[in-house]
This record gives sequence, C-alpha cells and structure tokens, in this order.
Amino acid sequence: MKNEKSNYVVIFNGFNEHDEYAKKNYTLKPPSKIHNFLELEKNHFEVQAIKAIIRKYQKMLKENGFNIFFDPDISRIHITTKKEYREKIDKNNSGKFQWGDIYVFRSDNKSYFIGSLVHQLAHMLSYYEIAVTKSASGSFGLESKQSGIHKTDRSLKLDDFLGLNEALAETITRDICHRLCENNVLLNDEETLKLLGGMSYQNHIKMVNVITANKHEDKQKTMMIFLHSFIFGDEEFLNTLTLTAEQLQKLKEVGRGEEEAKNFITFLTEGAN
Ligand SMILES: [Zn+2]
Repeated sequence: MKNEKSNYVVIFNGFNEHDEYAKKNYTLKPPSKIHNFLELEKNHFEVQAIKAIIRKYQKMLKENGFNIFFDPDISRIHITTKKEYREKIDKNNSGKFQWGDIYVFRSDNKSYFIGSLVHQLAHMLSYYEIAVTKSASGSFGLESKQSGIHKTDRSLKLDDFLGLNEALAETITRDICHRLCENNVLLNDEETLKLLGGMSYQNHIKMVNVITANKHEDKQKTMMIFLHSFIFGDEEFLNTLTLTAEQLQKLKEVGRGEEEAKNFITFLTEGAN
C-alpha cells in the first residue's frame, strides 16, 4: 500500500469553536502573492531534472525500507530568475522551502541548480508542520512549527536543531546526487564532477559524524534513526545521542553557520579529553 508523503500538517492556533468555518476554508496564499515574483515556465532540462530527482528519491526511500510514496506536486516547485529570487525571495541562499513550496533560480550552472533542487526536495520530503495563527484583532498569520527535526516557536523563542536538520538534509542530498550521477543523462562529465564535489554544510556533516561516532556499532542504523525522525518528525534521534545536558543544549543551538558547527565539534571533542 502506498502512503503518500508530499504534504504537511497545518495546525490552528488562537482559533475558537466559532472559527470552524475559517478553519475549513482557510487556504494558503499562492506563492506569487506571498513574494510577488515572476515565475518562469520550467524548460525541458528543468522538467527532466525534477522528474529524475523525484525518481531517485522514490528509489532511495524504497531501498531504505521507508514505506512511503514521495510524489510531490511539481507545480509547487517555483523557478525564477536569480535577480527576482535575490530581490524578492531570499537574499542569501541558493534555494528556499517555505509553506510547502520550493523556490530556486534558473542557472546556467546545471550542477548548482541540481544540487540546490535536491536539497530543497529533502526539506519537502521531511516532516513539516505550520500553524495558522489568529490574532486578537482577527488577522491571520503563519508560523513554521517544525521542519524535519528543526522545531521553532516564536513565543517560546525556540529554535532547536536547525543545524542538525540541515546536516540531515545535506546527507540525503549527497546520496541522491550520487544516485543521479550513476546513469546520468542530465550532466556532462565536468558537471557531474562539480555536482559530486560540491557540498554545503560540510562542518554540519562532520558534526553528525562526531556525534554518532561511538554511539552505535552500526553507523548505518544510527543514520536510519536520524532519517526516520527527519521524515516523520519524531524524537527518536534524541535517544541515539548520548550527550550531556550541556552538550545537547549546545547542539540544539547550532544554526546554519559553518562556524557554529565547527565550534560545536571543537567543544565536543575538547570536552571529551
Ligand atoms: Zn536547507
């Protein structure tokens, strides 16, 4: 039996029993309204790349025993020019996953485009929970609650495991990129080398290696527990971490910055001496 995995959980905060109508009829604003950007029609290469990547995700999930069918709606992947992307969507990163939609920019650098798309699709695959909030004045708002194992709560100033979550997204990305390059018709040799050579969040991935180093005899098993938590949003991964309270707190605080991950590795390894 296939179990689809390409949507997310929406919870409602601040609504009361009289708001049933609002709950039932609440719809997200379309991305073009949120960011007011001009979406490009996907070209042949982009459509082929998206389809090939999704097939690799399906294969990876099946091979790892995840009984889910990842079949995201391609219309929720939005491509725009780099200029539009930088000005209207995101100033820094190469792609964005927000409210269930993916945003990437068109690039002549095919390896860069694919690497970024694969990474954002990892976020789309992962557990995702957003809250629709209603203020006292009755206006609606949106708040991300959990993406993979990254938990946020503005009112509690909670922002836990962002860095570890990115490490898991990028670990999956590396695996999918290798699969794509096995029988690759999308990229030439030079582009293939570039895709396999490039890696975001290098220190975050090292961080995962350090925290899982002596935890399980079977490293693969540890990684599977991490991936399960990433995809289903459970907290099982916490049980595999035998960190002190102080180490765990520091790990929670590691964000997207490479320096932060590097400092955490130093903290952990020096602490062990
Ligand atoms: Zn990411």
